[in-house]
Amino acid sequence: MKEETKAFEIVFYGTSGWFDSTSGATNSVGVFVNDRDIVLFDLGTGVRKIDRESVRDKNVTVMLSHLHLDHCYGLHILPMFQPASLTIVIHESLKSYLETLFSFPFVKPREQLKFPVDIRVAKDTSLNFDNFTIKTQALKHNTPVIGAQLQLE
Ligand SMILES: [Zn+2]
Repeated sequence: MKEETKAFEIVFYGTSGWFDSTSGATNSVGVFVNDRDIVLFDLGTGVRKIDRESVRDKNVTVMLSHLHLDHCYGLHILPMFQPASLTIVIHESLKSYLETLFSFPFVKPREQLKFPVDIRVAKDTSLNFDNFTIKTQALKHNTPVIGAQLQLE
């Protein structure tokens, strides 16, 4: 029996550090896991390049490596995407800071959004979703930070 290989799309919306440059925007990578699920790795300025229709009514999972602004700039853009649901994964020691940043007066408070928002914490963690798993590991930086590995069946 021939084994079927499924392809999925990975889009590098931004790969620069610190600030935009002539070569690109700051970190944001989208993985279109299947017809329903999208995983965004960081929300740098590259998020402005995301086609809204490609994420509308999808389950969006955001892996926020840390909260330096070049990695989370796009928080205020998320409501425009009108996802079916939003899950944000953050290092466990940064959750309270994310909750502050994801509130008045910084962005539209998550309680006022028209889709459910779930903030999940991680460190050296395996997070199970319906159709995929994300493994995280704490990395060295000058702030708590997590790296993430997406695992599909
Ligand atoms: Zn940083």
